[in-house]
Amino acid sequence: MQAFADEVAQKYLERVRIKSDFISAACPFHKGGRESRPSFWVNREVGNWGCFTCGEHGGGLKWLLKKLGISSAHIDSQLDEAEKQAKKYEEVAKAKARKKARKAFAGEHVLPDALLGVFDFLPLDLVDAGFGKELLKEHDIGYDRRNNRITFPIRDLFGNLIGISGRATMIGEEPKYLIYSGQRKTEDATLPGELGEWYPDYTNEGVRDHLWRLDKCYERLMKNEGGQEQLILVEGYKAALWLVQNGWTNTAAFMGARMSPSQERIVRSLGVETFVFLDNNQPGREGSKRICQRLAVSTFPVYEVSYPADCNETDQPDDLIVEELEVALGNSTRVGGRSYGTTRIRRLERHTGGRQANWTRRKR
Ligand SMILES: [Zn+2]
Repeated sequence: MQAFADEVAQKYLERVRIKSDFISAACPFHKGGRESRPSFWVNREVGNWGCFTCGEHGGGLKWLLKKLGISSAHIDSQLDEAEKQAKKYEEVAKAKARKKARKAFAGEHVLPDALLGVFDFLPLDLVDAGFGKELLKEHDIGYDRRNNRITFPIRDLFGNLIGISGRATMIGEEPKYLIYSGQRKTEDATLPGELGEWYPDYTNEGVRDHLWRLDKCYERLMKNEGGQEQLILVEGYKAALWLVQNGWTNTAAFMGARMSPSQERIVRSLGVETFVFLDNNQPGREGSKRICQRLAVSTFPVYEVSYPADCNETDQPDDLIVEELEVALGNSTRVGGRSYGTTRIRRLERHTGGRQANWTRRKR
């Protein structure tokens, strides 16, 4: 399929640039094909295509050629064959990516789980905010009394403890989130970090290349029985926990409004239907667009989740009540891929029953 896709692009499109798994080109469907910045893409492996600007899109090269008014029985039969080959190729590529993933996605600097004993206190802020105690325990969420921070253990895909993130509880304390380390470097000295007392040599390097909580859904997503699994990606720990508490158990967090190349590889290697649900503030909305565009040129469906119209700019998923979450997820927009539009997300199994019945929405 790649050779065909390249050939078709070079013959019939303008300003063609061939990248590893997709081709970018000037969109032939708007501005009379004279875009200053190409926003048209073609997937080289399976031939689906789309435009980020005008939204024109389609499921195969045959369709593209037809739309461009270039079509013949000869080209069609060649494309059918290429598409068949591409299907096979896709399966092989996925299997390869997974094998590689097994090696590359293990954390480099592993901490013993016993360390969590230091932070084994219930974070009352989160309990007050409506998070279930069981859920918090299940995720080993704790409290660091020395630094007054709520602790979120970060694990690699295989469940190894590779980092601790501390969330400030004092108003105005910066940074709001801090990934603990063994050492802290200032301009003229190296001081012990938050974990220095126990692990002075530990470094938090590379921790952000993982996705928080993905270890909890990894097996299920890898198996992807019946092709039914759906992954929701959010920015923060609290947002992820809130979705899980409300029944969407396949949720993981980027730990920020950006996706690192390594995180992108992980998401791609899973290859399941993916929903991007970042915060509603500007960094969140911009990050969400960028992440969706990067993922959209892949072979699995990617959806951008949008907040209900009456939500605040400061809202994040954990500010929404369950009905609002349902509206947001249900109105997700497909980005790129074979078909744009909206879809309803299948409700996944509930973790804890009925908690949110007493829940009233917090307004900050
Ligand atoms: Zn266009």
